[in-house]
Parts: sequence; C-alpha cells; structure tokens
Amino acid sequence: MDHFLYRNGVLHAEDVPVPEIAVAVGTPFYLYSTATLLRHYRLFEEGLAGTDHLICYAVKALSNQAILATLAAEGAGMDVVSEGEYRRALAAGVPGERVVFSGVGKTRGEMRVALAGGIRQFNVESEPEMRALDEVARSMGLVAPVAIRVNPDVDARTHEKIATGRKENKFGIPISRAREVYAEAARLKGLKVVGIDVHIGSQLTDLAPFEEAYTKVAELARQLRADGHEISRLDLGGGLGIPYESQSNAPPPLPTDYCAMVRRVVGDLGCEIEIEPGRLIAGNAGIMVAQVVWLKHGEDRDFLILDAGMNDLIRPAMYGAWHEIVPVIEPAPGAELHPFDIVGPVCETGDTFARNRPMPPVAAGDLVAFRSAGAYGAVMASEYNTRPLIPEVLVRGDQFAVIRARPTFDEIIGRDTIPEWL
Ligand SMILES: *Cc1c(COP(=O)(O)O)cnc(C)c1O
Repeated sequence: MDHFLYRNGVLHAEDVPVPEIAVAVGTPFYLYSTATLLRHYRLFEEGLAGTDHLICYAVKALSNQAILATLAAEGAGMDVVSEGEYRRALAAGVPGERVVFSGVGKTRGEMRVALAGGIRQFNVESEPEMRALDEVARSMGLVAPVAIRVNPDVDARTHEKIATGRKENKFGIPISRAREVYAEAARLKGLKVVGIDVHIGSQLTDLAPFEEAYTKVAELARQLRADGHEISRLDLGGGLGIPYESQSNAPPPLPTDYCAMVRRVVGDLGCEIEIEPGRLIAGNAGIMVAQVVWLKHGEDRDFLILDAGMNDLIRPAMYGAWHEIVPVIEPAPGAELHPFDIVGPVCETGDTFARNRPMPPVAAGDLVAFRSAGAYGAVMASEYNTRPLIPEVLVRGDQFAVIRARPTFDEIIGRDTIPEWL
C-alpha cells in the first residue's frame, strides 16, 4: 500500500497533486511520501513489538538526509556499508550506538572513523577483515563489537545480481567454518563478539529461503553458546521483496508474516533481534516522474521517448527490472491501450525502461510516473551524458519540499579542473 493515488483524475502524492510539483521543480524528479515510508517502517516495529529488537534501515536503498532524519525520529537504527553512509547516519541524528557497519570491503580508515564516532557493531565478513579490525581497535585503545556474517549457502531465489547467500557469492564466511572463526575472534583482544549476522539477498518474494537461513543461524547460535561465546544479538539482514506490479497474483510476503516467522524461528533464543530492511521501507514510498518528450513511430514499433534515462533509474537496464509506468492524468475508463517501447534519451540501447508496454493514450508533454522507484533509484543515479542528477522531493500531507536540488550545468562543469599545462 502506498499514498500515490489518483484523486479527481490526477495522480497525487498524499495530498499534493503531482503536476503541481512538476511545475515547481521541473522534470524529471523523484518524489517520496512520508506517510508511506513511516507506514512500512512501523509494520516492522509492530511485527517485532514485545521482543528486544532494533530495525536498522539499510541506508543504501535511499540515503537522502531527509529520509534518514524521518526514520531517525522514529527511533530507527541504520545499516551502513561505507564511511559516507556512516557519516550520513550520524548527520541525520542517529547515534553511533544504533548504527551497524556491514560490507565486504571495509578499509582500516573506515574502521577508524566508525570506532572513533561510536558504533553498535561491525558485521565482519572475512578473517583478514577481522584481524585488521582487531589491530585498528587495539591501536586506538578500544574494543570493537562484532558480529560475524555467515554465509548459510541457501538459494534466495532472486535475481543473480542481488543474491548474496550462496557459497559462490563474495559475502560472509561459510557457516561450516563459523565455529573456527568465532574461536579466533574470541582470542583477539581488540574484538568483542556480540552476535551473528546473515543477509542472503534482496527482493526475496518467498519466506522459505529466509526461514532456511535463520534456522541454520539459530542452530549456530546454540553451538556457539555451547562453545562459550556470548551471543546476545542476531542480525538477520534485509531482503524482503516488494510488489512491483500492483495487480500481481503472487505478491511477496507481508512484513507482518516475515516478523511472525522470525519470532517463531529465533524467538526462543533470548537474543536481541536486528533486521536491516531497505527496499521494503523505501521502495514503494517513491516514484519517479518524467515527461514525454516525443512519440516516435518506428518501422517496427512505436517509441515513447522520456526526459528521464537509465542514468536516473538504472534498475531496468541493470536487473531487467519491471516498473509500473502510469500517466499522471488518469486515463478515461476503458481507454484503448497501445504498445510502446518506453525509452530514455541516453545513447545506449540499454536505455530502455519497458518493451511493448501497453499504454493508454499519451502525447508529447504528458507526465508519467514510475511506481516503486524509491529504493535503488536516486542512490544509483549518475550524470552519464552530462545529465544533471534529478531532484528529490519529499511530501508530507499537503506540504512538499525539495530535499536535493538539481545541480546547475555550471556546478557540474565546475567540478572538473583543467591542468595548468593545458
Ligand atoms: C543491501 C543490504 C540490505 C538491504 O537489502 P534490502 O533488499 O533493500 O532490504 C541489508 N543488509 C545488507 C548487509 C545489505 O547489503
């Protein structure tokens, strides 16, 4: 459920008509709904109510400061994967004690910054990283709280580029070697083991792989406790999928069902539960609005050419992702549909958002909205073809605010420097 609905024939974000925002900021732009964001966050809060838990929003899904501050005000923790994201979380008012640091390639510099600024835990992904973290912490006279990310070797049954829990993936240490690695961690004076971490992939549309992984983690927790380790937290990662098709006949499980499964599988361990949802919180809380530049009748098919391109929303080009694309002015009931290839202006054939997509009547100048574009949208955008990063706008009730402005061409060009010898 989201708050992007037609009212009186015009798409609204909460109480604001989308065309009003288009006039104010120009197209294309990202548009987020506070109510939707909070609704999704609170579904997890409600699902885990009564258990000791922390929801650590995965910052990489949508990292604008206004979004982080909205969630921080709810008491959310954050899951970060870089120094930049760590700094974003703190700048948005999240205390270090609520920030977990994930990622396979943390550098010593990043470890130092997080240790100095305060950190809830590092999710350690390899033995070299574990030893480096021990050294860095001891050199600072500190002890780093760690969970070790185990790779449970389960098939997440999702897109290959976002599956992370098979043994051929680069993430975590094999669960079969976990006891050995925990034994070494316990000997390192710069580390304090606090728990176990797992994250098996993104856009999972079935609870079974989660349950399989969490069952293995629960079993490991018992073993590690028997080995003498203090396992007080389980970080279960993110990955719950969202419906990209509003009329889907096989929608992904609801957060409520996911949380019920978590409680059933790991609830009796007495551990604090951390989860790291990203897409589920941000995905359907955002749309991308673009304008039709041209309708082009090709020999073989017709094209709808938009002013947004793959540099603004790369998911279709990168993952073959499907986004619902709807006109901002509601089509008349029973309007005839005509198939289009919906494309951007970038000089790449991959700059295609949809092929053969049945669309109601559209004309040059019309606005269209890409639904479910809140997660892995703006954060993956680039300025390829020297197309400025598109603005981000946040709605709350009847108010809207630009939360990241479109850069000017002078700003973009001014970032480059011509050497003196030229
Ligand atoms: C990407 C990522 C997440 C968030 O995944 P979603 O599919 O957006 O929920 C959580 N934890 C880790 C470690 C990640 O890499």
